[in-house]
Amino acid sequence: MLTRDDVINKAFELGFADVGFTTAEPFDSQKELLRQRQEEYGWVGKMGLDLVLGTDPKNILPSAQSIIVLIEAYFREAFPPQLERHFGRCYLDDDRVTKDGLTLRIKAFRSFLTQDKINSKVPFNLPHRVAAARAGLGTFGKNTLFYSRKVALKGSWVLPVALVIDRSFEPDAPNYEVACPDWCRNACISACPTGALKGPRRIDPRLCISYLSYFGDGLTPMELREPMGMWIYGCDRCQNVCPRNTPWLGKDLPMNKKALAKADDFELKKLLHMDKAFFTAKIWPHMFYQAPEDLWRWKMNAARAMGNSLDTAYVPDLVRAYEENDDFRVRAMIAWALGRIKGTDAREALKKFLGQSQGELAEEIELALQ
Ligand code: SF4
Ligand code: SF4
Repeated sequence: MLTRDDVINKAFELGFADVGFTTAEPFDSQKELLRQRQEEYGWVGKMGLDLVLGTDPKNILPSAQSIIVLIEAYFREAFPPQLERHFGRCYLDDDRVTKDGLTLRIKAFRSFLTQDKINSKVPFNLPHRVAAARAGLGTFGKNTLFYSRKVALKGSWVLPVALVIDRSFEPDAPNYEVACPDWCRNACISACPTGALKGPRRIDPRLCISYLSYFGDGLTPMELREPMGMWIYGCDRCQNVCPRNTPWLGKDLPMNKKALAKADDFELKKLLHMDKAFFTAKIWPHMFYQAPEDLWRWKMNAARAMGNSLDTAYVPDLVRAYEENDDFRVRAMIAWALGRIKGTDAREALKKFLGQSQGELAEEIELALQ
């Protein structure tokens, strides 16, 4: 019969950075929080993920007795700066489609449990960060993120992976502390460009750039275009500004070769001009929250980032992309980007487009020209 130490040793052997145990009791406070904040989290259910169901491990595995939480450090190696400018780090070496990294290690860990007749499930809808806290693996930040007790120099660059199992192991002591230093004065809340962080440990996910950049509906509202800055998919700003992450961000890390190898495919120009074949082959295997039918959102985000770069070198590509695309959302954002970059070429292009346009698109172009 496997002991706690056997499980812990196997987790470390497989490259996980930390491991803890908790009971399979329901997460009642999380259930209550979700009930109170239905408006803010309702969209998750529409995407097929029932978060309320996930607050009771027995809904996931009826014979559940414990939860093992593995801590994966996703920022062990440096990422190319040209990617870090536009993408959340947690997506830069994400193997959920390619299944050639973390997935293999989780599979090996589950096989190890199975050999001892322990059944396990790895649910997406269980509150992973709360499970990690209940397993005593770290503390919270006011930015809602989970900070490891030891990984990444106690930073937030970790992914808790919770396994619901049908064997009882002695639980670790929970720790729900918010361990932010008083002197920080809520840097993350002040720095959040879209106002998604409403207060300590309080986020409106619908305003978070992570949501807006891959699930946002329709043309990005005018008031969010500049605040969303250069982010294309995800956002790390509230982690980058956090003093609790300073030690790890100050380290010289070896370069992540997988991320480096794909960096060229994620250039703004390539994203702006990409077709479905390029998207399916190069982009989707690494960042898959959007279907090929949603290429308009990638292009809209790329155009917005180009506009926020204020770089006139992007003007010819924006003009070309306007002519290549007939999607209103892409064209309207290109017009906005040209208006933000300014300059003679951008202005001439906008005047030409205005002569060919009507309705809402013409209004966007007129605004860009002002
Ligand atoms: S990820 Fe970005 S947008 Fe979301 S809460 Fe943090 S700073 Fe705000
Ligand atoms: S920025 Fe400050 S308040 Fe926000 S999580 Fe970090 S330490 Fe806490």
